[in-house]
Amino acid sequence: MGSFLLDALEFIILGLFLKAMFQNLGSFFGSSRTQVRRPQGGPPMAPPTATHRGEMARDPVCGMFVATELSQQLRQGTDTVHFCSRECLEKYQKDAEHAASR
Ligand SMILES: [Zn+2]
Repeated sequence: MGSFLLDALEFIILGLFLKAMFQNLGSFFGSSRTQVRRPQGGPPMAPPTATHRGEMARDPVCGMFVATELSQQLRQGTDTVHFCSRECLEKYQKDAEHAASR
């Protein structure tokens, strides 16, 4: 009777093993099927030729236009003022302080 219990246990383990193996086979065939159906030669999301597509802003000190993503920025309340360089930003700040002191 003792060997019967072992046989039953072996049968259950074998059953679980076979079940796991069939599940692995199913996932293997499923993944291979999706790999076949991949798009061929799709265009890339962003063209590499475009360097700066950001907005342009006018530097109030020297008057030149700068890309907002590359500019020196100064927050003034809700507005952001853009400058071509740190020099222009500092000059603008000094002028603002000078105007405020009057
Ligand atoms: Zn400037």
